[in-house]
Amino acid sequence: MPNGDDGYDVIVVGAGNAALSAAMAAKEICGSVLVVEKAPEFFRGGNTYFTGGIIRFAFNGIEDIKEVIPDMSPTEEASVDVGSYPESQFYDDMMRVTQGLSDPELAQILVSQSLPTMKWLRERGVRFVLSFGRQAFKDGDKYRFWGGLLVEAVGAGKGLSDQQFDIAKRDGIDVRYSTEGVSLLRGDDGSVSGLRVLGPGGYEDIQGRSVVLASGGFEANAEMRCRYLGPGWELVKVRGVPYNTGDGIRMALEAGAQAHGHWSSCHAVAWDMNAPAFGDRVITELFQKHSYPFGLIVNIEGNRFLDEGADFRNYTYVTYGRALLTQPQGVAFQIFDEKVKHLLRDEYHIPQVTMATADTIEELATRLDIDPQGLVKTIEEFNAAVRTDIPYNPTVKDGRHTEGITPPKSNWAETIDSPPYVGYAVTTGISFTFGGVKINNRGQVVTNAQEAIPGLYAAGEMVGGLFYYNYPGGSGLSAGMVFGRLAGTSAGQDAMALKD
Ligand SMILES: Cc1cc2nc3c(=O)[nH]c(=O)nc-3n(C[C@H](O)[C@H](O)[C@H](O)COP(=O)(O)OP(=O)(O)OC[C@H]3O[C@@H](n4cnc5c(N)ncnc54)[C@H](O)[C@@H]3O)c2cc1C
Repeated sequence: MPNGDDGYDVIVVGAGNAALSAAMAAKEICGSVLVVEKAPEFFRGGNTYFTGGIIRFAFNGIEDIKEVIPDMSPTEEASVDVGSYPESQFYDDMMRVTQGLSDPELAQILVSQSLPTMKWLRERGVRFVLSFGRQAFKDGDKYRFWGGLLVEAVGAGKGLSDQQFDIAKRDGIDVRYSTEGVSLLRGDDGSVSGLRVLGPGGYEDIQGRSVVLASGGFEANAEMRCRYLGPGWELVKVRGVPYNTGDGIRMALEAGAQAHGHWSSCHAVAWDMNAPAFGDRVITELFQKHSYPFGLIVNIEGNRFLDEGADFRNYTYVTYGRALLTQPQGVAFQIFDEKVKHLLRDEYHIPQVTMATADTIEELATRLDIDPQGLVKTIEEFNAAVRTDIPYNPTVKDGRHTEGITPPKSNWAETIDSPPYVGYAVTTGISFTFGGVKINNRGQVVTNAQEAIPGLYAAGEMVGGLFYYNYPGGSGLSAGMVFGRLAGTSAGQDAMALKD
C-alpha cells in the first residue's frame, strides 16, 4: 500500500475508457492511483474493448485533425476532405437527438472539452487514425465522412483499451483485476474515505482520499433492465461485458447521490439474431447491422414498421435498435437487393452472420421464416411508392422518398427488384443504459440538494443526464474521456488538498 498505511490518493472503480482516462488524469497530479476491475485480466477493458473505437469530437478543420493524428501523411491528407464539425453543431446534434433534454451543462462540457481531451490523450500516447473503413465514402477524388464522425483509435476498441492500459502501466498506476468494488467507505463526517472490495483474497477495505466510480451502467443486469427499461428487456442480448450490473450506480445512490437522466431508456442496436447472450471478444461489435438505410426492415409478418431513411444511421440506429423489441418475437429482417449490396458495411460479411439469399422474394421470405405473402405485398407497395424521378445518392440525405405508404422512407428509397435478394435476421442488442447519477461541473457526485458528496466522483456510462431517447454515434467514448479526465483531475486535486 502506497503512502504508508493511509491508503491511495485516488481509487478508480472499473477499467474501461472512462476509468482509465480518470486514472491517467489523477496520476498527473498525485502520487498513488489504484484501479480496481471486477473482470479478470483476460477480460479487461469493459465495453470499451467491444467498440469500433469511433469517437465524436468537435473540430474546425484539417489542422485540428492533424493535432489528433500528427502522423497523417501528406498523401493521406490530400485524399480527404474532412470539412468541419464545430462545437455548435455537436451541441445542436446532442440536443436534437435527445429531444432537447440533455443536461445543458454536461452537454456543454462534453462539446467544449471533446477536442482538448482528444489532444490530451494523443499527448499521453493514444494513437488515432481516420475512420476510412466505416465512416468514409468517396466523392469525386476525395474521401468524405458521414455525420461528423471521422476518427477512430488505432486498433478500434481493443486498441484503445490496450493503449490506455499500457499508459497506466508506464505511469505507475496500480491495477487489480478480479476485484469488485462492493461499497463505499465513509468517514464520520460523511465524506468518502475508501472502498470495500471483494477480490481473490476475499473482502478488503482499501483507504482512499478520493474515489472515482466509472463502472458502467446496468445493461448486463437482467433484473435492473426489466425494472427500469420495462418488460421484455430482460430478454435482450447484451453487446458487451457481463460485468456492468449497475454496481457503481448502486454504491453512489446508497451514499445519497441524485438519480439523473433517462432511467427508462438505453442505447441498443440491431444485432444478429443468433449472437451469444453477452459480447464475443473476437467478433466484438460486428454482430451489429447498420446498413438498413439502404434497404428495408420488416417484421416476421413481412410488414415495415419504421422509416429506414429518416436520417443518417448515426442518428437513427439507437431508437431503431430498441424498436425491434416491439415487434412479434422481438425480431426483424433487413432486406436488400443486388443494386445496393456493395454499400453494406463490413459486419454483413462475417461468417457468423444469420442471413439468407434467394432469387425471388417469396423464396427469401420462406428461408428467413417471414410470411411470404406479407413480404411480397410490402415490397410491391414499396416499389410502386418510390419517387424514382429523384436522383439516388447514398452519400447525402438525397430526399429520394416514397409517397403514399406508411411508414414512409424519407431518403435513399430504392426499388427492391434486382435479384439475388438478401435478408439478415436481427434482434435487439443493448449497449449501455442512459440512467445514472448526477455530477457537477467538477465531476463530483451530487445529492438531490445539489451538494457534492465529499470524495466521490463519477464518469462514463454511469453518469446520467447526457443521453435521452437517443445518442449521436461516437459520443459514448468522448463522454467517457471527457468526464473521466474531469473526474480524475478533480479527484487528484482534492486528494492532494487533503494531504496539505
Ligand atoms: C459493441 C459496442 C460498440 C460500441 N461502439 C462505440 C463506438 O464506436 N463509439 C462510441 O463512442 N461508443 C461506442 N459504444 C459505447 C461505449 O462502449 C461506451 O459508451 C463506453 O465504452 C463506456 O465506457 P465506460 O468506461 O463508462 O464503461 P466500460 O468500458 O464498460 O467500463 C466499465 C468497467 O467497469 C467494470 N466494473 C463494473 N462493475 C464493477 C465493480 N463493481 N467493481 C470494479 N469494476 C467494475 C467493468 O468490468 C468494466 O471494465 C459501444 C458499445 C458497445 C457495447
